[in-house]
Amino acid sequence: MKFVLASRNRKKIEEIKQILSGSLLFDFELLSLDDIGFNEDIDENGTTFEENALIKAKTPASFGYIGIADDSGLCVNALAGAPGVHSARYAKDPCDDEANNAKLLDALEKSGSSDRSAYYACTAACAFPNGDILLCRGKCDGIILESARGSGGFGYDPLFFFPEFDKTFAEITPEQKNTVSHRKKAFEALADELKKYFDKKR
Ligand code: IMP
Repeated sequence: MKFVLASRNRKKIEEIKQILSGSLLFDFELLSLDDIGFNEDIDENGTTFEENALIKAKTPASFGYIGIADDSGLCVNALAGAPGVHSARYAKDPCDDEANNAKLLDALEKSGSSDRSAYYACTAACAFPNGDILLCRGKCDGIILESARGSGGFGYDPLFFFPEFDKTFAEITPEQKNTVSHRKKAFEALADELKKYFDKKR
């Protein structure tokens, strides 16, 4: 079975491959947008993780492939869920990980709140060329530290402290992250839904 993963984030693609290899019971091949010759940027103009995940997954589906995608982000409770769907471009210009993390610390300080609780959210989507869709969600709770710790992971991981491990997500291995992450939960649920979907078709 062939799927096309609508992402160009190498680290994310590796994470998703690892998660699906552990949870999908059938053989599958995960192609990328480059593999199908799609070189354009996808306009993620949705207002929710669900909308954006579907916009991305429907792109390969419109070319006759089974599309898989996710949309994810960090939601901070003291900031009413921000940066949320804007996580990737939170700091606007420049909007690299360092600038995004600096903006997050600044926003938390300005909020005057002592609540540092936050969660990563992920919606995994699958879109079929016939219009069928599957959507699954995953969530992972943590605490935003006052300064960065660790050099692994990506995005907000150096600030995202995970109490169960007593470490930030940048201080653990990708394998450890994949046992508990929002993405792991969403894609494991999607793997279950895919099994049910294909069983029904038999
Ligand atoms: P997208 O799902 O590729 O649109 O990612 C949105 C943004 O959310 C990323 O660029 C990161 O800033 C943030 N993000 C999502 N998942 C993670 C994660 O596992 N670790 C750190 N940051 C993440």
